[in-house]
Amino acid sequence: MHANGYTENNTMDNKDFCLQAHQLVDWIENYFKTLADRPVKSPLKPGEVLAQLPESPPQYPVDFDACFKAFESSILPGITHWQHPKFFAYFPANSSYPSILAEMLTSSLAVQCMSWQTSPAASELEQRVCEWLLKMMQLPSSWHGCIQSTASEATFTSLLSAIGHKSQYKNIEQGLKDCPTYTVYCSKEAHSSVEKAVKLSGLGLAQLRLIDTDAQLAMDVESLAKCIENDVNQGFSPLWLTACLGTTGTTAIDPLASIAKLCKRHGIWMHIDAAYAGSALICPEFRQQFESIVEADSLVFNPHKWLLTNFDCSIYFIKNKEALLNTFAMTPPYLKTDEDDEVNNYRDWGIPLGRRFRALKLWFVFCCYGVQGLQAFIRNHCQLAKTLQQKIDADPAFERLAPVPFNLICFRYKPARISDIDTLNALNKALMDALNASGKMYLTHTLIDDRFVLRLCIGAVSVTQTHLDEAWEQIKQQAFALADPN
Ligand SMILES: *Cc1c(COP(=O)(O)O)cnc(C)c1O
Repeated sequence: MHANGYTENNTMDNKDFCLQAHQLVDWIENYFKTLADRPVKSPLKPGEVLAQLPESPPQYPVDFDACFKAFESSILPGITHWQHPKFFAYFPANSSYPSILAEMLTSSLAVQCMSWQTSPAASELEQRVCEWLLKMMQLPSSWHGCIQSTASEATFTSLLSAIGHKSQYKNIEQGLKDCPTYTVYCSKEAHSSVEKAVKLSGLGLAQLRLIDTDAQLAMDVESLAKCIENDVNQGFSPLWLTACLGTTGTTAIDPLASIAKLCKRHGIWMHIDAAYAGSALICPEFRQQFESIVEADSLVFNPHKWLLTNFDCSIYFIKNKEALLNTFAMTPPYLKTDEDDEVNNYRDWGIPLGRRFRALKLWFVFCCYGVQGLQAFIRNHCQLAKTLQQKIDADPAFERLAPVPFNLICFRYKPARISDIDTLNALNKALMDALNASGKMYLTHTLIDDRFVLRLCIGAVSVTQTHLDEAWEQIKQQAFALADPN
C-alpha cells in the first residue's frame, strides 16, 4: 500500500476479477435468453435515471457486487434494448457473440493503435481485414481501407481530403482565400452528416447544393447536371459530391452510374455514403446492381450497423491514399519511428491520434461466420422483409410508400375512409407511439412528402419469422383499435 492508502488493485484482485467475469458472462447469457421478454424501448421519462444516481461520487470504494446491483436496479431500466429481436427502429446496431468476446480482448489488451510500432499486429490486422473486405465486396484491390469510428467521421475525412486534393494542399497553409469558391453536392435525402461535414469544413453551407429527388427519393440526375452547369457558369468550382447507396429515410439509391459520369466530367470527388446498406454488397446479387461504385473516390459503410460487429466500426475506403495522407499526416518528433516509411500508421488516416483496436472484432466476426455465413445473415433479413412487404401490400388498410431494396419497409396505416393528410399523420404518429409504449416492439418514422411514415427495419441478429408474424398482428390490432376505439 502507498502512503496515501492507494493500492494498485484496491478494488479487485485477479481472483475477484475471475469470479466477477464468470458471473458476468452468465448474466450476459441470461440477458440474451430473456431479451425478447423485456420492453424494447425504455419506458422511462426524462430525469428518472438521474434521480436514482447519487449527486456526488463515492469517496471510498464500493464493492463490485453493489455496483452491479445498482446497474440492474437504476441503469438497466433506462436501457433501450437495441439487440431485441423486435428492435425495428432507426437502423440496427448489430452485435454478436464473437464480436462481444473480441471486445473483451480489445479492452483487456487496451492498446492504442496510432502507429504501427504501438502495436504492429493492430496495424497489420487492420490492413488485412480491409483487404478482405475489398475482396468480399468485389472492389478494386488498389483501394485503401481503414477503420474509423463513424460514417460521419469518414464523410468529413473525405471532404477534407477532397479540398486538399483540389487546392493542391494550398488550403493547409493559406486557408481557402486564394482558392476559387468550391461547391459541393448531395441529395435532399442525404444524411445530416454530409451537411455537418460541410459546416465543419469551413466551406460554408451556402456552397452546399441540395439536389431534388425523384419519385423513388433518389437523386435526380438532371437537376444535378443543371446545378453543376449553373455553378460552373457562375465561376464556382465544383469540388465534392456524396451519393447515397441506401438513404437513411428509405434506403433509396442514387443513380450512381450517371452521377459518376458527371463527377468525372467536372473533376468532382465522388464519395459514396453506404453507411447502412453497404453491408449488403458482400452478396454478389446486390453488388452486381451497382457496377459503377468502382468509379467512386471514396466510400464509407458501417459493419457496426448491419454486419454483426459492435459499435464502433466504420470502414472508409479511398482510392487516392496520398490525398488522405497529405491532409491528415502529422509527425511531431515524439511520434517519429524508424518504420514510418514502410508501414501504415493509421493516425495519419483520419482525425484522432489515439485509436482503439477495432480490427480484432471484425477479424473474429469474419472468421467465426465465414463469408458464406455473413451473406446468409444479410439474405435472411432481406427475405424476411420481402415476406412482410407482401403482407403489407396485400392489406388494403395499409400503404407502402417506398421501394424495399434491402430490409427497410416504409408504410403507413391508411383506412379507406380517411384521406386527410393531417388526420392520417396524427393517426400514424399515435400508432407508432402506442406500439412503442407497449414495449412489444420499437419502430421510428420518417416523412415522405409530408406524409408521416413508419419505418420498420428488419436487422436484429435474433429476429425470426415468428417475431415478424407477431409484430404484424400487433401492428394491425393496434391500428384498428386506434381507428375504431369502440
Ligand atoms: C447511419 C447513417 C450515417 C451516420 O452513421 P454514423 O456512423 O453514426 O456517423 C450516415 N449516413 C447514412 C446513410 C446512415 O444511414
